[in-house]
Amino acid sequence: MQELTHYINGEMVKGTSGRFTDVYNPATGEVQAKVPLATVEELNKAIADAAEAQVAWAATNPQRRARVMMKFGALINEHMEELAELVSREHGKTIPDAKGDVQRGLEVVEVCMGAPSLLKGEYMDDGGPGIDLYAMRQALGVVAGITPFNFPAMIPLWKMAPAIVCGNAMILKPSERCPSTSLRLAELLTEAGLPKGVLQVVNGDKEVVDGILDNETIQAVGFVGSTPIAQYIYGRAATNGKRAQCFGGAKNHMIIMPDADMDKAADALIGAGYGAAGERCMAISVAVPVGQETADKLIEKLVPRVEALKVGPYTAGDDVDYGPVITAASKERINKLITSGVEQGADLVIDGRDFSLQGYENGFFCGPSLFDNVTPDMDIYKEEIFGPVLSTVRTSNYEEALDLIMTNNYGNGTAIYTADGDTARDFAHRVNVGMVGINFPIPVPLSYFSFGGWKKSAFGDLNQYGPDAFKFYTKTKTVTARWFSGIKDGAALNFKAMD
Ligand code: NAD
Repeated sequence: MQELTHYINGEMVKGTSGRFTDVYNPATGEVQAKVPLATVEELNKAIADAAEAQVAWAATNPQRRARVMMKFGALINEHMEELAELVSREHGKTIPDAKGDVQRGLEVVEVCMGAPSLLKGEYMDDGGPGIDLYAMRQALGVVAGITPFNFPAMIPLWKMAPAIVCGNAMILKPSERCPSTSLRLAELLTEAGLPKGVLQVVNGDKEVVDGILDNETIQAVGFVGSTPIAQYIYGRAATNGKRAQCFGGAKNHMIIMPDADMDKAADALIGAGYGAAGERCMAISVAVPVGQETADKLIEKLVPRVEALKVGPYTAGDDVDYGPVITAASKERINKLITSGVEQGADLVIDGRDFSLQGYENGFFCGPSLFDNVTPDMDIYKEEIFGPVLSTVRTSNYEEALDLIMTNNYGNGTAIYTADGDTARDFAHRVNVGMVGINFPIPVPLSYFSFGGWKKSAFGDLNQYGPDAFKFYTKTKTVTARWFSGIKDGAALNFKAMD
């Protein structure tokens, strides 16, 4: 069995704690590797080395730092197949989906290639008599990224690329369930010219996370994961005086208006609800048809599409639409939630609980499930299921549908399908959710915008990647400057006609 490592000071380094956790192949249920869980001593040493490396890195001019990103981007492209395979092997998602995972991270690296423009400050000439003001953005020092299992390439890249190109050093603590992609990305960054110690990948669990939150050298924490942990990390980081942005869970709704193109809406729900086994923070997990007729038509369109979904291991290639969920515990939790939905009175139109795949009986596969007549008091509505389960909440008009979303605790993403511009515009304007799709099911903003939810889906200020990331990973210094008369007056040779 493979023993994974940390990545410290430019090389793979074995763990010394003697503590490990298992990394599964979710398709077979077998343990394929063990990953070391660092001690606080190992972490603190990595942080101290990063602090030393950061000084010279911050003094390297932004254009040179951007050139490292250019090379890094080229290397990611060159190693696309290998990185996608690493993602799929530990996560279980299909290869095309894993390539999307790498690609959406790469696009953030591409924006970081333009760092010199994004790091330019502000200037005001003659803000007072003979007084100029300017504001510069400077690196924070050593920062930390703590990432979830569900995007093993994209989210570590969202963290490392902006933080590093701004002149910081980063301690990255990837999910212990899918650590290999982060380790490989760190190697590629070194190959791209990043000085040793500027990116340290420290594997671990709560012990390392708490060590990060309590370490005085760490200036900022960027977290992505479930809401309870996001809220905990935000609180502890803030108490310790750190800048923190913590992105949490989601329950994303899609309104289907009576005038929507029903085939397109159904296709969108299939992709956004069941893709990656529903393990996306931007997955649509609640369909909200407006009007009974719309709801009946939608269910009629969804049923054959859900029944046609092919579930299997990524190694089966094009024969598979989505793979297993991440752990046996996850599968059990999803199945329990489905059972609770039935018990609480929802109609389980398609039941994925008994799904089993020949040859992969021990894999963590869940068949697709579809619910109709879900109501907001049910656990399947209230909880983030994070599995291939789509719930339908029927509403009688647009205001009722909008109110459902507005009163939900989460506010990551949402979408509306309609042919009416006025309705779409009203929805985008009024809804209290951070990312909105209009006839677009998964509105993850492109990399030159920024990503972030509202309500219980995010804690802290500023979003991930794009212009916000450049603000999060730098601090502002504002200079007010006045120069008393000097050499210029002394050098005047009596040509002072304007006196
Ligand atoms: P998770 O919260 O279990 O783990 C995330 C990270 O926190 C991991 O690195 C983990 O090691 C660490 N962690 C776990 N328990 C901890 C504890 N008690 N104390 C300190 N650290 C701890 O999340 P996950 O299961 O890996 O990821 C799925 C969740 O992430 C879902 O809720 C999903 O919606 C959310 N997510 C959100 C976004 C977003 O941008 N809003 C993006 C992707 C995923």
